[in-house]
Amino acid sequence: MPDPAANPAPGADSRPVYGRVALIGLGLIAGSMAHAIRRGHLAQEITGHARSAETRRVAAEIGLVDRVCATAAEAVTGADLVVLAVPVGAMGQVAQEIAPHLKPGATVTDVGSVKQAVIAAVAPHLPEAVHFIPAHPLAGTEHSGPRSGFATLFDNRWCIIVPGAADPAAVDRLAGFWRALGANVDLMDAAHHDLVLAVTSHTPHLIAYTMVGVAEHLRRVSDSEVIKYSASGFRDFTRIAASDPTMWRDVFLTNREATLDILGRFTEELFVLQRAIRMGDGELLFNYFTRTRAIRRGIIEAGQDTAAPDFGRSGDAPA
Ligand code: NAP
Repeated sequence: MPDPAANPAPGADSRPVYGRVALIGLGLIAGSMAHAIRRGHLAQEITGHARSAETRRVAAEIGLVDRVCATAAEAVTGADLVVLAVPVGAMGQVAQEIAPHLKPGATVTDVGSVKQAVIAAVAPHLPEAVHFIPAHPLAGTEHSGPRSGFATLFDNRWCIIVPGAADPAAVDRLAGFWRALGANVDLMDAAHHDLVLAVTSHTPHLIAYTMVGVAEHLRRVSDSEVIKYSASGFRDFTRIAASDPTMWRDVFLTNREATLDILGRFTEELFVLQRAIRMGDGELLFNYFTRTRAIRRGIIEAGQDTAAPDFGRSGDAPA
C-alpha cells in the first residue's frame, strides 16, 4: 500500500467521514475506492464482499479491504456507508439481500453507470430508516476485477450525485466523502444524468464496439494486418471495446431510451458526412471537423484529459 501522506487526495482533510464503509462488489470501482479511502484515512474500517470465492480470495490476499466477508449481509452489518459497486443488472438483487441487515441511519449509495434503472431496482427494497443516495463517479478504465483499482482513479474527475428527496445533511456528507476521494461533485436528477451519459459515454462505447466488430468481420483485411497497421484511431477504439462485457451489456439494457435517442441522432449525422464525402463537399467536412476540434480543446482546458498513472491506463473511459 503506498504511503498516503506521500500522495494526499486533492482536498482531502484526512479525517474519517464514515466509521465503517461496506463495499459490495470488489472490482475496479470498489477497489479504487478502497485505495482512496485508505489514502485519505476516510473510514475506520472497510468491509467488502464479492460474489465469487475467487474474487474474495484475491481481495483478502492483497488486503484490498480490512475484512472480506462471505456474504453481503455480513459486510453491511454495522456499516455507516454501504456502496453498491456491482454491475447495474445485479443492484436490485443485492439491495434485497442486504436490506434486513442495514443499520438505521446508514447511507446506501451506488456507483452504477445508469441512474433511473438503479433507483427503480434498489429503492423498493430499502427500509425507510436508511438514506438512499445514488451516485456515479465519471472515472474508469477498461480493466476490471479486484487487482485493477488504484487510489488516484477519481482525482479531478466528476462524481454525479442524484439527491432526489434524500436528507440534505446525508447528501452533504456523501458529497464530502467523494471530494475527499479526490473527485469534484455535481448534483443532477436521474433522467438528466442518463441522457448526459448516453452522449458522453454510452453511445461512444457502442460505436467503438461496432467499429472493432466491423474490422473483425472485414474479410479483405486479415487479422494480422488489422493489428499490425492499427493506427491511433482504431487502437483507441480497441481499448474502449475491451471494456467489461457484463457491465456494458447492463448499461445498454438499462439506459435503452437515452442511448437509442442519441444513436438516432448519430446516424443522422453520419449520413450527412457520408453524403458530403460522396458529393465531394470539402467545405462541409472542413467546417464540421473544425467544430469538433473545438470540443476536444474544451475538454483539455477543463482538465478532463489527464492520463491515469499506472499500467498505461488512459483513465478516460467514464462509464
Ligand atoms: P468489475 O471490476 O467487473 O467488478 C464488479 C464486482 O461486482 C466484482 O467484484 C463482482 O464479483 C461483483 N459482483 C457482480 N455481481 C455480484 C453480485 N450479484 N453480488 C455481489 N457481487 C457481485 O466492475 P466495475 O468496473 O468496478 O463496475 C462496478 C459498477 O461501477 C458498475 O455498476 C458500473 O456500471 C459502474 N462504473 C464502472 C465504471 C468503469 O469504467 N468500469 C465507471 C463508473 C461506474 P465477482 O468478481 O465475484 O464476479
